[in-house]
Amino acid sequence: MGKRSAIIIGGGISGLTAGYNLSRRGYNVTLLERRPVLGGLARSITINNKPIEVYYHFICGGDQALLQLIDELGLAERLHWAPARTGYFVDGQLYPLTSPWDLLRFSPLSLAQRISFGRLILYCRRSTRWQNLEHLTAHQWLLERLAPQAYDVVWKSLLDLKFGEYGEQISAPWVWHRLHRVTRSRASVFQPEQMGYLEGGTAVLLQALVTQIREADGEILLSTEANELLMSGGKAIGVRAGDKELTGDMVIAATQIPELIKLLPEEAASYRAALAAIKFIGIICVMLKMTESLTDYFWVNSNDTRVPCNGFIEYSNLNPWKQYAGSAIAYFPFYSDTNAPLFSASNEEIAEPLINSLSLIRPELTTNAIKQVIVTRDACGQAVCPPGFSQQVPEITTPVPNLYLLDSTQLYPSDRCLSGMIGLANELTELLS
Ligand SMILES: Cc1cc2nc3c(=O)[nH]c(=O)nc-3n(C[C@H](O)[C@H](O)[C@H](O)COP(=O)(O)OP(=O)(O)OC[C@H]3O[C@@H](n4cnc5c(N)ncnc54)[C@H](O)[C@@H]3O)c2cc1C
Repeated sequence: MGKRSAIIIGGGISGLTAGYNLSRRGYNVTLLERRPVLGGLARSITINNKPIEVYYHFICGGDQALLQLIDELGLAERLHWAPARTGYFVDGQLYPLTSPWDLLRFSPLSLAQRISFGRLILYCRRSTRWQNLEHLTAHQWLLERLAPQAYDVVWKSLLDLKFGEYGEQISAPWVWHRLHRVTRSRASVFQPEQMGYLEGGTAVLLQALVTQIREADGEILLSTEANELLMSGGKAIGVRAGDKELTGDMVIAATQIPELIKLLPEEAASYRAALAAIKFIGIICVMLKMTESLTDYFWVNSNDTRVPCNGFIEYSNLNPWKQYAGSAIAYFPFYSDTNAPLFSASNEEIAEPLINSLSLIRPELTTNAIKQVIVTRDACGQAVCPPGFSQQVPEITTPVPNLYLLDSTQLYPSDRCLSGMIGLANELTELLS
């Protein structure tokens, strides 16, 4: 019997991990990526001759599948851990919010509110039964546990930071999981959170996967967009990409759902309709390269109407990128409906008010310190997960025979993450064995 073959659509972490796994199991792999670069949401650009992700990426202690892959690819020496400090910018003042002691001193909330907030964190660290919360929005659930002011000051801005105008529709399990994942990154709640990063960024991991796929004679086609799923006898047999027809024993859609919808044939109309019910929002991220740090924190949530975003990530306070590239790097994410005016605003319209507001956070920082402004956007930044979302999540095995799907919604209630996508690609490999 000849080698089995797989056509993989998408050169993000899930497509590349699936390609790597299947190459190792003797499959002929052909991977198509519509962009000229690999990496999808984890793609990088080059600044000062160093690759850096267009969107920040950090690693948590519980990211098992990612940590295992790093090890397997011989990259363990490039993995570093560092304490990640969290701050809160409320009404013109920056507060530390890294440890339980910081929480006890967090004066925007009353003592009773701080205690109830601490109880919520402990509950999420210990509990595993998120299914009991599936019928609630995070908004309803948090208001049952916290005073309205504590919700407004702390949670509203975080939900708005991640989901834009959909913040109040998000399910309670999403918030539960976020707290559960992050608090599990600490040895104890009294220890500062340790976050990991790869020296050279995610690009190093992606490159190692590419090398392995190519060494196994796999083919990676850049700037090649799959335009149509090819079917024969009711089964998926390949894809059309421009004037090319690529066929194989199976097709793996390692794209996000709205991209797969465009490829599905008429005969998959009901599957298409089910997938179309899942709403995605866009991401716009402003990255600033600066000569000075903005704060000492890795992650700052912001609840100040004069600052146009709900938080920022000063990546160089985790990964000392500035030590070898001479710059501080901060990311300012904005999640937005792709039909909202924000998503089609120009780069200047987005970056300028943001830059003008930074002196509120650090008055000594002048615009001269900002050396580069990079604005990146993607239409599928994040799926919106309302209560009951687990019923909408599609499976890896699709109703179209020989078509498989890898999509971040399958991680629910977990937020999308590299480790989760690697885990899904591993699950698919097991399924095919
Ligand atoms: C702002 C932001 C911050 C993040 N921070 C973190 C973090 O700190 N830690 C973490 O673990 N994760 C983080 N993530 C999540 C992580 O980046 C994603 O979960 C992961 O990269 C998704 O990988 P993927 O392969 O599933 O999808 P994608 O990365 O979306 O890859 C899909 C690929 O398919 C390609 N494609 C689509 N349609 C076609 C077609 N028709 N033909 C050919 N190619 C096609 C796309 O161009 C893309 O390259 C973050 C994401 C964002 C947006």
